[in-house]
Amino acid sequence: MAKRQFKAESKRLLDLMVGSIYTHKEIFLREIISNASDACDKLCYLALTDDAVGMSRKDFKIEIQADKEHRTLTVSDNGIGMDKEDLENNLGVIASSGSYKFKQEVGDDAKDTDVIGQFGVGFYSAFMVSDQITVVTKKYGAETAYRWQSSGADGYTITECDRPGVGTDIIMHIKPDTDDEKYGEFLESWRLQELVRKYSDYIRFPIRMEVSKTRRKEGSSDDQPEYETYTVEETLNSMVPLWQRRKSSVKPEEYNKFYRDKFHDYADPQRVIAVSAEGAVTYKALLFIPGATPYDYYTKEYEKGLQLYSSGVLIMDKCSDLLPEHFRFVRGVVDSPDLSLNISRELLQHDRQLKVIAANLEKKIKSELSKMLKDDREGYEKFWKNFGRQLKYGVVSEYGAHKDLLSDLLLFYSSTEKKPVTLAEYVSRMKEDQKYIYYAAGESLDKVDKLPQTEGLRDDGVEILYLTDEVDEFCAQTLRTYQDKEFRSVLDQEITEGDQQKAQEAADAHKATFDFVKESLGDAVKEVKASTRLKSHPVCLTAGEGLSFEMEKYFQAVQPDMSLRADRILELNVDHPIFQALETAVTADPERAKKYATLLYDQALLIAGLPLDDPSGYTDLVCDLLTFSQEKK
Ligand code: ADP
Repeated sequence: MAKRQFKAESKRLLDLMVGSIYTHKEIFLREIISNASDACDKLCYLALTDDAVGMSRKDFKIEIQADKEHRTLTVSDNGIGMDKEDLENNLGVIASSGSYKFKQEVGDDAKDTDVIGQFGVGFYSAFMVSDQITVVTKKYGAETAYRWQSSGADGYTITECDRPGVGTDIIMHIKPDTDDEKYGEFLESWRLQELVRKYSDYIRFPIRMEVSKTRRKEGSSDDQPEYETYTVEETLNSMVPLWQRRKSSVKPEEYNKFYRDKFHDYADPQRVIAVSAEGAVTYKALLFIPGATPYDYYTKEYEKGLQLYSSGVLIMDKCSDLLPEHFRFVRGVVDSPDLSLNISRELLQHDRQLKVIAANLEKKIKSELSKMLKDDREGYEKFWKNFGRQLKYGVVSEYGAHKDLLSDLLLFYSSTEKKPVTLAEYVSRMKEDQKYIYYAAGESLDKVDKLPQTEGLRDDGVEILYLTDEVDEFCAQTLRTYQDKEFRSVLDQEITEGDQQKAQEAADAHKATFDFVKESLGDAVKEVKASTRLKSHPVCLTAGEGLSFEMEKYFQAVQPDMSLRADRILELNVDHPIFQALETAVTADPERAKKYATLLYDQALLIAGLPLDDPSGYTDLVCDLLTFSQEKK
């Protein structure tokens, strides 16, 4: 019997695919099962209007049979079936509508993967694991059944045959094992069960297979139990996906269990977001905000993404394009009948529908978080502990492109409320004459609380946001404003005219002392000046316009060789007794005055949480001064 040739395009495609395209050979089963499911759908649909079909939804099924002896894997369905013409048209060419386009695309520089993504090549993927495929099929309403057979690119034959009922068997003769590939595993019951659960769990028809089990032989004694193996036919898939059910019909425990099983989490999710969209793109999504931070969350091992399904069939396990970076903690699934099953990763990135879905989901997640912030503050604070830092990174990333989306969701610790507050809450409490949102950055709440620069504002009852995360200050600087109120570090408080004058007077009155200190410290400090804000403390450091101290520390930690350094401006409290001692020493005992200057600078460094330039020199100085004051007594 003469072999019929595949159409030229198909041949080319077969070569491409069998060679290298799909790295995951295992997906062939998903493709074959999906076709079987489509065939059942078609006949099921026909049955709705045609009583002669005599079947209803519950009568359809897909069966898998593995025959190790003959090395065949068979997937059968009782769906619509194919006649001779269908076999020619469907299995003899690649999706016929696409063949013209295919020719164009397969120019020499077209990328192979892109080509694959455009066509329904599902069936052919079986050639990745088989050296011969036989299709036995009988179409609904037809008299004759047909056998289609092919060993790959060299063509196919079609002959008449018998088949008891309507439907299709795809009989795949599995390739012999090689050193690299153990094709034989596709005949193992455990592997097939695993694959069905992984890719085809939500196919709406039962996928049945005989599985062998072991049981204790009846009548065998407790002392010497005997076992026997037996086979039963089981349904391998769970069929109804949770996301296809209405939220009101699903119990919270069901969602929790689904989440824990699917995403291997020990903790229940904190929130469940069920989305059902129709319109430009139809899809269902089930999203979860985890109840705990995954142990690897802030490492590069953590992979973001949502599971992507096309009508219940898994296309991709972690589709990262569906989630923006700032919501990368969200887990979940998206299912859309509008997405093509065979779409490749490369194409998916440019998929318009996918972009629409991603944009909608971002909005949904934001609104769910806003709702939680409003209705469940305690819950939100828990969420914030788990993932708040991610939102702050989100504000800073991409030059602040997402700051408007995220700013309402931020929390910072408040000096007056003694708890995390939102920026909206801060602004609503601002005094009438308060121009700025004040913040103070430091390593811990305690350290910030003790910053000399916060003292004046706190005495005046002004609320200060304490920024203790390394990203916080970048975050405040990226935001720049919130509800038109500018952020301002307590380190660079605005100086009033009165302050200005006071500082000038102090500078004039104590010029010699300031010059002396500047000279003693040399390049370590940029400037030495009188402070307008210090009350009980003798000194403090400020950083001036550029880099702040917290940023310096951050860069030190992440990029030590860059040695970025904030300017150090030493402010002295001229009303403090220490300053008077210093001033006296400048004329009476310049050597001693130099030691005072160094010591005061070191203290200012310590309070700002910066490393001392010379720690042992510092302790020497302290000892020296202690003995000196002892001698004086
Ligand atoms: P796709 O499913 O993307 O159209 P395939 O290459 O997987 O591409 O299948 C080509 C066509 O062959 C299908 O569209 C369908 O018409 C037909 N077909 C494949 N498998 C079956 C089956 N089990 N029963 C009936 N028709 C089938």
